[in-house]
Amino acid sequence: MSNESAQATSLLPQNIAALAAYSSAKSEKLTGTTWLNANESPYAKNLELSIEDLNRYPDPQPQLVIDRYAAYTELESENVLMTRGADEGIELLVRTYCEPAKDSIALFLPTYGMYKVTADTHNVAINSLTQALLIDGSVDEIVKAVGSSKLVFICNPNNPTGSLTPLNKVKAIATALTGKALVIVDEAYIEFCPEQSATALINEFGNVVVLRTLSKAFALAGLRTGFTLAQQSVLAPIRKVIAPYPVSGVVASIAAQAIAPDAITSMRRQVTILNSLKAKLVQWLNASPAALKILTGEGNFVTLKLANKNYFKVALEQGLVMRAFTLYGEDDWLRISIGSEQELEQVKIWLDGLQTPATTAPLAGNEVS
Ligand SMILES: *Cc1c(COP(=O)(O)O)cnc(C)c1O
Repeated sequence: MSNESAQATSLLPQNIAALAAYSSAKSEKLTGTTWLNANESPYAKNLELSIEDLNRYPDPQPQLVIDRYAAYTELESENVLMTRGADEGIELLVRTYCEPAKDSIALFLPTYGMYKVTADTHNVAINSLTQALLIDGSVDEIVKAVGSSKLVFICNPNNPTGSLTPLNKVKAIATALTGKALVIVDEAYIEFCPEQSATALINEFGNVVVLRTLSKAFALAGLRTGFTLAQQSVLAPIRKVIAPYPVSGVVASIAAQAIAPDAITSMRRQVTILNSLKAKLVQWLNASPAALKILTGEGNFVTLKLANKNYFKVALEQGLVMRAFTLYGEDDWLRISIGSEQELEQVKIWLDGLQTPATTAPLAGNEVS
């Protein structure tokens, strides 16, 4: 370490010094040809772009995008805040509603990693609860465990397990936590099971917040666009915290096209195809001795426990990139995003090439980590 960097390090707040580098699906330097590790859509869009007025600052909240997203979610425009991905929505909620070194957020593990990363970077404590409690526990037990946490993150469907929290449970939790906590329903994958959306609760509950994104079913992960949906009274303080011009005019123009009525119809058609490709993948996995447990919930991904951790490496050698996970303390889980038919064919080729643990000499065993 150079002197300069040593000095800079000594300036860091303790919570920042303690951070581990966040490893997103894309930050890992992997090489491959088939990318099924970030729950992206295989459908690339053709968009039209006319860029004329970049000398001016953009509309802080582009009206056409807000109005179209409100129409899509059957809410009023005042209930919609556009952000740089749903990730910025998570960050804004923590920054706006949590007091560093005092407040906590509740989350149900295993779940999406950004809730913890955001809390850690803002010196906000984590109340680590479990998916098992969320799914099997009573509302009383859940609310008791939430305690005084200010924000309760319910990822629905949950990444990476795919499990669903029934809407009436979300509603009962929100009822019990009225005036005590915000219940944040992360619906990044809701387009794959739209009937499960909690957006209809927003008019009734002042403490329900829904997070949305264009990164998954809308096939625009590269655009960085998400939405925070809530009653105006919840959004008003966030509007004071958000950067003055968070959304570039270029992004706004693309987002508006992506959520025009005909584009929504085409997104729904793609979702139907991806859901049926997922059913096919689940069949293959069920028939394969390589998969010990398969979590078949909702969303454009399947998470499974491998019979042998080295199968992941075999896939990488074939250029097939999926997301390895440590779940339930076991490091042999894998999440496969639902790609195109051709991409899933690569998964099939990989599966067919694997031998069962009983018959493999070269691959079996734990000696290779
Ligand atoms: C992908 C994902 C997000 C992030 O969405 P962006 O809009 O790309 O920031 C948020 N929540 C969950 C559960 C996700 O899987």
